[in-house]
Amino acid sequence: MKVIQTRVLRGPNLWSKHTSLEVTVMLNEYECDFDSLSSFAVRLCERFPEIALFQPADRHETVTMAHALEYALLGLQNQVGCPVTFSRTIQISNTRSYRVIVEYSEEAVGCLALDFSLDLCHAAMDNKSFDLADALRRLRELYEDIRLGPSTSAIVRAAVARGIPYGRLTDGSLVQFGWGSKQRRIQASESDLTSAVAESIAQDKELTKALLHAAGIPVPLGRPVSSAEDAWAAACEIGVPVVVKPQDGNHGRGININLVDEERIKAAYHLAAGISDSVIVERYISGHDYRMLVVGNKLVAAARRDPPQVIGDGIHTIRHLVEQINRDPLRSEGHANLLTKIHLDEISQVHLATQGMTADSIPPKGMRVVLRNNANLSTGGTATDVTDDVHPEIAASVVAAAYMTGLDICGIDIICDSILRPLEEQGGAVIEVNAAPGLRMHLQPSYGKGRAVGEAIIDSMFAHGEDARVPVVAVTGTNGKTTTVRLLASMLEHNQLRVGMTCTDGVYVNGLCVDTGDCSGPRSARNVLSHPDVDAAVLETARGGMLREGLGFDHCQVAVVTNIGRGDHLGLANIDTAEELALVKRLIVENVTPGSGVAVLNADDPLVAKMADHCPGSIIYFSRNKHNPVVLTQRAQRKRVVYLEDHEIVVSEANMEQRISLSGVPITKNGLISFQVENAMAAIGAGWALGLDWAVIRTALARFVNDTQSVPGRFNFFNYRDATLIADYGHNPDAIAALACAIDRMPAKRRTVVISAAGDRRDEDIRLQTRILGDIFDEVVLYQDKCQRGRADGEVLGLLREGLENARRVRKVHEIYGEFKAIDTALSGLQPGELCLILLDQVEQALGHIHSRIA
Ligand code: ATP
Ligand code: ATP
Ligand code: MG
Ligand code: MG
Repeated sequence: MKVIQTRVLRGPNLWSKHTSLEVTVMLNEYECDFDSLSSFAVRLCERFPEIALFQPADRHETVTMAHALEYALLGLQNQVGCPVTFSRTIQISNTRSYRVIVEYSEEAVGCLALDFSLDLCHAAMDNKSFDLADALRRLRELYEDIRLGPSTSAIVRAAVARGIPYGRLTDGSLVQFGWGSKQRRIQASESDLTSAVAESIAQDKELTKALLHAAGIPVPLGRPVSSAEDAWAAACEIGVPVVVKPQDGNHGRGININLVDEERIKAAYHLAAGISDSVIVERYISGHDYRMLVVGNKLVAAARRDPPQVIGDGIHTIRHLVEQINRDPLRSEGHANLLTKIHLDEISQVHLATQGMTADSIPPKGMRVVLRNNANLSTGGTATDVTDDVHPEIAASVVAAAYMTGLDICGIDIICDSILRPLEEQGGAVIEVNAAPGLRMHLQPSYGKGRAVGEAIIDSMFAHGEDARVPVVAVTGTNGKTTTVRLLASMLEHNQLRVGMTCTDGVYVNGLCVDTGDCSGPRSARNVLSHPDVDAAVLETARGGMLREGLGFDHCQVAVVTNIGRGDHLGLANIDTAEELALVKRLIVENVTPGSGVAVLNADDPLVAKMADHCPGSIIYFSRNKHNPVVLTQRAQRKRVVYLEDHEIVVSEANMEQRISLSGVPITKNGLISFQVENAMAAIGAGWALGLDWAVIRTALARFVNDTQSVPGRFNFFNYRDATLIADYGHNPDAIAALACAIDRMPAKRRTVVISAAGDRRDEDIRLQTRILGDIFDEVVLYQDKCQRGRADGEVLGLLREGLENARRVRKVHEIYGEFKAIDTALSGLQPGELCLILLDQVEQALGHIHSRIA
C-alpha cells in the first residue's frame, strides 16, 4: 500500500460535513482482496483487537487493505477519546487506487493516527510487531496536549449550541466566535472585554481589598509589611490570628494562615518574601472557602472548595492514604478528569510540618489531616456546588466586588461559615478576586449539580438570538464567478456595508486590497471571515479549494452557481466529466443555511438547475429564457425567479414584480453582451436573497461599468485609432462561445482576434476554442507564452491551428511568440471601424501594455 496523497479537509467537503482526512492509496494485487487474505485480517486483529468494533457489518463491497486502513484510523482515534464516527473507502474507477476518508476531531491527532494506522497495516502484512500500547500512549498525550481545556470547551460547546461558528486561533485556548464585525474572542475564561487594567487590579490583593472596602464589601483588613519585624508589628495592630501572604501570589504558594505567635509570623514573612517582593499581613477569617463565579452583573455559580485532605486510620502513613485516594478513577493528572491527583509536593510537606507531621507520619484514627491550605482543583482539592444556597446579600456583595475591580468574568473567593447567611453577621469576607477563573469546579463539581456556566458566558457576550454570523455569499461556476462576486459586492457596498470579498483577483476588505493573486480558496475565505471590518462576505469559491480542503465556512446564507457548461479544467484531479464537476460545485448549494439559506441557480444550465434537489434552503432561479420550463414551474408555484423579457430583467415572486431595463445595466452594453446579462441576473438574485432594497440594487447595477478598474480583463473596451478594442480573459470553450456570441452582434468592417491557450487543458478543448472563433473572425493571431504547462514547444500553437481547419471566415493566421508581440501585430494592421478581440493571458501586464499603446 502506497500513499499517493493526503488531504486535510478542514470544512464541509465532498464526502461529509465533518473535518476529515482524505488519503489516496495505491494497493498491489495482493492487498486488494481480503477474502484471499484472511491471515492478514487475523494478524491485524492480533495487533489491534479493538479494530473489529469499527468494521461495519452492513458493508457489501470487497474488503481491501484500504478498508483496513480506514478501520484502523477510525479505531485508533476513538481509542484515545476522539469522538469520530464518519468514514468511507471508495475505489477510484476500477483501479487499484482507493480513497480512504476518515473524520478527525483534532487535526494533529488524526495525522499521527494515520501514521500509526499505516504502520499497523504494514506490520500485519509483513508479520512484524506493532507496539499498540506505545501508539495509544503517544496519541493520548498529544490529544491531552492540544485539545481545548475544560473551561474553554464548555464555552465553545455553548456557542455551538446557539449556532455560533467558532475557530481556534492557536493550539492554546484562544478562540474566535462569530464572523467579521460580529466576532468576539476568548482565551479560556477571559473575554476580549476583560480589561488588562482590571486584571492588574485583581492581581494586587492589597489594592483589590482597598477598592472593595471602599464599596462597603467586607474584606480581611491588614497591610503590606516590609520586614519580619514589621510583620509582627502589623499582626499586633490587626490582632491575631493572622495570615501572611505574598501580595500577588497564586496557587496558595507562600501563604501561611491562622498564625498567632511571633516566631511563626516572622518565619512566615520570610517564606512569603521568597515568593514575592511584597508581603501582606491580614486578618485570619475562619470558615469554609467558597468560589463565586460572576459573569457580567450576575452570580452564575458558587462552589465550596475543600483542600485535599486524608482521614487517619491509625495504621497507614499519610503517603499511603494519599495513594489510596489517588487510585480513584475520577482522579487523573491535569484537567483530563473530574478530579486531579494529589501530590505530596514541597508545599504540602511544609504544610504538614506546620502541623508537626511528615508524609511518613501515621495519623490517629479519625483525624482529619489537611494537606495544603489552598483548595484549587488542580492541586487535588474537591468542589461542592452550593449555587442554590447563596444568600442574596452575599450574591449582591460579590457582584459589587466584580464591578469594583472591573472584571466582566471573574471568580471571587470568600471565606465564611455558612453561605446561607450574609457575610457581615458571621464575620466572613471576600479574600480575593481572580481573573480567568477555572470553570471545571462549576461544570462538574465533585459533589452536587453542574452549572451551565459556558452558556452564561456566551449569553453575556452575544444578545439573545444572535448567532454572530455576517451574511456570507459563496459563488461558484465555470465562468462569471469573479464578475458576479464584484457586482454583488458593489450592491452590498451601496447598502453601506463593509464588504469582505475574495476572488481570483485578490482579497478586498472594505474597498482595500489586502491580498493579491488567486484567492478563491478556503484560506482566503477564512481570512475574510476573521476580519473585524467585514459586515458581509462575498466569496468566489473555486473547485480547486473545495477539493483540496473543503469549504472555509460551515454554511453560507446564499450560494450562487453561474454555470457548469462543458466545464473548465476537465481531465484534471480525476474529474473527467461535467457531471463530476457539478458534483464538486454543488457543495456550496448543499451547505446553505438549513431553512433560511438560498441557492441562486442558472435554470438554463441543466446541471446547475438540478442542484436544487440538494439544497436545504429555498431556490431563486435565473434564466435568459422566460419560457424555460424550470422557470415556468417555479413561477406557477409563485416562487422566486429572475428572467429576461424584452430587454428587461424581470424579478418576480407571487404578486411582487420588479423590472430592470438592460439600458440601466451598463456591463451588459445594452444587452449586447449576453453573458454579462447572466452575471447580472445571478448578482440580482443574490442581492434579493439577502433582502437588499431594490433601489440599492438598481443604483449599484447602474454604476457598475466594464472598465479595467472594476473588472480588469472582463470585456474591457478601448478605442484604438477609431477601431474597437476588447480585452478579455476568457479561457475555456464556454467563455469563448459567450464572447463570440456577443461580438457577432457588434457591427464591424473586419474582425481580428488574438489568442493563446494554457497547456494543461485537454487537446479537444484547445482546438474547440479556435474552432468557435474561426467562424466569426477574419484574422487570427495565435501566440505562445513562456509557460507551456508540460507541453512541448509549439504543441499548443499546433492545436490552435488545427481548430482553424475548415474555419468559415478566417482569411489570415499569424503565429507569434510572446503576448505583447502578438498584441502589437494585431494593432499594427487595425483600421478605423474594425474590431479586435484580445484574449489575455497575463491580465495585468497585458492590460498595461494595451494602455501604453493607446496613450
Ligand atoms: P489561589 O491561587 O488558590 O487562589 P492564592 O495564592 O491566590 O491562591 P489566596 O486565594 O489569597 O491565595 O489564599 C489561598 C488560600 O488561603 C485561600 O483559599 C484560603 O483558604 C486561605 N486564606 C487566604 N487568606 C486568608 C484569610 N485572610 N483568612 C483565612 N484564610 C485565608
Ligand atoms: P476564473 O475561473 O478564471 O476565476 P471566473 O469564473 O471568475 O473565472 P470571470 O473572471 O468573471 O469568471 O470571467 C472570466 C471570463 O469568462 C470573462 O472574461 C468572459 O470571457 C467569460 N465569462 C464571464 N461570465 C460568463 C458567463 N456567465 N458565461 C460564459 N462566459 C463568461
Ligand atoms: Mg485565591
Ligand atoms: Mg475568477
